[in-house]
Amino acid sequence: MDVIRLLDQASLQIGAALGLDKREARIEARALGVHAWKVDAAWLISHDTDPLTGEMLTTYDTLLSRRLEGFPIAYLVGSREFYGRPFKVTSDVLIPRPDTELLVELALERIPLHRSVDVLDLGTGSGCIAITLALERPLAGVTAVDRSAVALEVAQLNAKTLNAPVDFLTSDWFAALADRQFDLVVSNPPYIPAADPHLTRGDVRFEPVAALAAGVDGLDDLRRLIHDSRSHLKRGGTLLLEHGYDQADAVLELLCQHGFEQNLTWRDLAGLNRVSGGCRPGAVAPSG
Ligand code: GLN
Repeated sequence: MDVIRLLDQASLQIGAALGLDKREARIEARALGVHAWKVDAAWLISHDTDPLTGEMLTTYDTLLSRRLEGFPIAYLVGSREFYGRPFKVTSDVLIPRPDTELLVELALERIPLHRSVDVLDLGTGSGCIAITLALERPLAGVTAVDRSAVALEVAQLNAKTLNAPVDFLTSDWFAALADRQFDLVVSNPPYIPAADPHLTRGDVRFEPVAALAAGVDGLDDLRRLIHDSRSHLKRGGTLLLEHGYDQADAVLELLCQHGFEQNLTWRDLAGLNRVSGGCRPGAVAPSG
């Protein structure tokens, strides 16, 4: 058995077991090779006809069988790209999703490049949002909280590897933030209804349910965040929240009820309502 034959066989198995197309299955088969043998993608090509040692076969097969059971590729290889940067992920954190890049882009539009503002990311998980904001806007003071200590360890490691200046704090939403106020608060909270069949399919089955599910209608945490945000936003400060494709109306109504202004919803790359936000009234005139 040589490298190329093993990878070809593995892609067929992956494609069949997980319903992936040929291209995706090949990418995954190679990613498992890179991870199993601690080589880079170029090695796989230049060594494609190398015979495999028994040990190489065993390490590959162990990973492959987990993948065939549905365990997410991101957890198996321990990493996922977000906004062009690699983030370490473990099963203690949600796997970063391209949908969330919308939240990042909207946040970046609101963080000036040449002035320092205070930004808070609630329920940071892998840290992908907070770290991206800190790296894209070096003058911003970015704080990130999570109530899960193990998730925060992953986020802190990512910040260290990517050299991002983020202040991390263990906190159940705003609980440990006392009376601190921010110019911008962002969050990708759990928002899936607890009985939603989506939770029993694909990668999601292996992700931390506490990062995904939020009560009967999926709005438990969004309600709490909107309620508690007002007192932690400076006047004129903005709240941006990711939510489910069918939750925009409910979130806009909650924002309205809590006195937020200029409330809007934005669509993700798939054309689905994905982020809503608004401002705490009473912007102070900029001082030049
Ligand atoms: N968008 C994710 C999903 O549908 C859920 C992310 C979240 O709950 N914050 O799998």
